[in-house]
Amino acid sequence: MNDTQRRFADFKKTIYKAVDDEVLRAALRKAVRSFRENRDKALEQFPHVEEQRKILMEKKEEVLTHLDEMIEKFSASAERMGVKVHMAETVHQGQEIIRELVGSKKLIVKGKSITSDELTVNDILEEEDNEVYETDLGEFIVQLLHGKPMHILAPAVNVPKERVAQLFSELAGRELPPDPAELTRFAKDFLREKFFRADIGMSGANAITADTGSIFLIENEGNIRFATNAPPVHIAVVGIEKILPTFADGSLLVEVASRYAGYYAPSYVSIISGPSKTGDIEKVTIWGVHGPREVHVILLDNGRREVARDPLLRQMLYCIRCGACMYECPVYPIVSGYWGHTYMGGIGIPWTALIAGGWEVAAPMAYACTLCGRCREFCPMEIGTPEIVERLREEMTERRYLPDYVKEMAQKVLTKGTPY
Ligand code: SF4
Repeated sequence: MNDTQRRFADFKKTIYKAVDDEVLRAALRKAVRSFRENRDKALEQFPHVEEQRKILMEKKEEVLTHLDEMIEKFSASAERMGVKVHMAETVHQGQEIIRELVGSKKLIVKGKSITSDELTVNDILEEEDNEVYETDLGEFIVQLLHGKPMHILAPAVNVPKERVAQLFSELAGRELPPDPAELTRFAKDFLREKFFRADIGMSGANAITADTGSIFLIENEGNIRFATNAPPVHIAVVGIEKILPTFADGSLLVEVASRYAGYYAPSYVSIISGPSKTGDIEKVTIWGVHGPREVHVILLDNGRREVARDPLLRQMLYCIRCGACMYECPVYPIVSGYWGHTYMGGIGIPWTALIAGGWEVAAPMAYACTLCGRCREFCPMEIGTPEIVERLREEMTERRYLPDYVKEMAQKVLTKGTPY
């Protein structure tokens, strides 16, 4: 068996395992039902979101057309506010910047960030003898399991409360009941101590704005607030596609992303425009009052500029990670995050091929897509994922990332109208 055949075979095995996992299937069925109800209610209550999402699409296009200019503008604005901006063209560069900023023997608390997963931040920090804690409850559970997030908004959707109780009991050194309220309270107390002892807080960003150099962060738990405010240093790892032209556009994104994620409004929106400071005593500026005295933004390219130059592929950079497409996909609710690498679901296919994972990893994912087009229908950014996937499949065939049996099946469909 060659590497390509092995990858397809492994993917198939994983998918079959997911299909047989009754707990996962039941959790996803429930998640899909409640997500759809919540999203429909949120969109019905705030019909102007329809107009807002179209404006946001125009803003995204504007940024992608003038990406270098926007990066410069954001950097100048952020530095004016006291933020240190670091440009990372590659994963390696991003990792080196983090190693240098963090050093070793530090305690780091993290808010959920897929962009930091692109840099495998947890692994490189632990390699340098640092202690790292994910603070989003779902991500914390996934970290303790040494597992993989199953959804961008609900990473531990597949883990039953009994398993969480077992994990937390080991950590607590005492028996904890499988009661969601009690388990949440334990996680809160455990992490609260870490927030205030941490040397560094890390986050991603939902948006950053070129005119003010601000970082927008949306959440419900309140952990991102603590992680970005309690430690003396905050490092945000941000993909360059997250830039929006103005502060007002950042607010626009907050509304669109929240409503399409099924919320009337998120519990918290943090907007960070520089380190904490005061001039209250004789007008002398002192950095680091109740919040961090240092804020760093690592802007990550890692293939994004190249993608932005392609008229079809650039659409994938519009993604605001609302998660709506995954709940409408016929494949995702059956296989969840197993259908993914760092990025998951249909939109995860181009992100895996072109940004985080590589063509070989993305090939089996691409052939699990039905090309039905429901994702595009429900996507606030109207991303043409099926067209992108078709294009990638063509390239995968040319680059020989397909095992022979897939090619034979495709040939049979073309000549006989059936794969069998
Ligand atoms: S592809 Fe569209 S629907 Fe899916 S997460 Fe991105 S913006 Fe949301």
